[in-house]
Amino acid sequence: MSAIPLTDTSKLCVHTITTKPWSVEEAMDKYAEAGVGGITVWRQWLEGRKISEVGDQLRACDLEIVSLCRGGFFPAATSQGLEDAIEDNRLAIREAAELGAPMIVLVCGAVPGQALDESRKQIADGIAAALPLAEDYNIRLAIEPLHPMYADDRSAINTMASANEVCDRLDHPLVGIAADVYHIWWDPDLAEQIRITGEKNRLFAYHVCDWMTPTTDLLNDRGLMGEGCIPLEEIRAMVEKAGFTGFNEVEVFSDRWWARDQDEFLTEIKKAYLNHT
Ligand code: ZN
Repeated sequence: MSAIPLTDTSKLCVHTITTKPWSVEEAMDKYAEAGVGGITVWRQWLEGRKISEVGDQLRACDLEIVSLCRGGFFPAATSQGLEDAIEDNRLAIREAAELGAPMIVLVCGAVPGQALDESRKQIADGIAAALPLAEDYNIRLAIEPLHPMYADDRSAINTMASANEVCDRLDHPLVGIAADVYHIWWDPDLAEQIRITGEKNRLFAYHVCDWMTPTTDLLNDRGLMGEGCIPLEEIRAMVEKAGFTGFNEVEVFSDRWWARDQDEFLTEIKKAYLNHT
């Protein structure tokens, strides 16, 4: 099964971290000029700025603010650590509201040496504690399952099934899933899990990039779509079949691409989006 080819960039969203050398101001001008439809803003890009003003500038550029990245990192070894994590997520919710972002992506966290089941419980409890504030501002919380190579310290949620379990536990319309191909492309249950996620109205976001062979860095060696081995068109077909109509968000952490001219990179992003996504 393959998806219908993408013919324009109206559903293309770029994460500010993808063009890491650019400030949020540079990124918004360049994205808008290139016809990019949406932007996901990473919190570091808001540092030292009046967040509501950045939101106004983004809207003036006609960029749809897709999400704020990121909240999460709920698990901790101490009760103070757990409380601090919840506070930081509440702060992220306020920042999203100020920016005008309808959603926060959650990288859920893990503590090396702590049982993953315990971390999953802390993640569910942490999201539950942040939910009342998310309700006040109507901000959606999207759990992003991370590839199992990050299970030690970045996330105890490593599959769509595991993310769906947390969603089932919380059973709340503001809690759903951000499906990122980098983390889930290998999963033999992917098609079924995406189907279930859509059926339960919790497929909130779709992130794309590619998997390089060999991968030289576990974090900062993602490929641009078409450079690696992820069956992107097949996965987009699954996501669309599940009812997803949102943005295809390009999220590439790559030392290799960050070292290049970012204007050229953005041109390559558009090409890769239209031809390999
Ligand atoms: Zn992602």
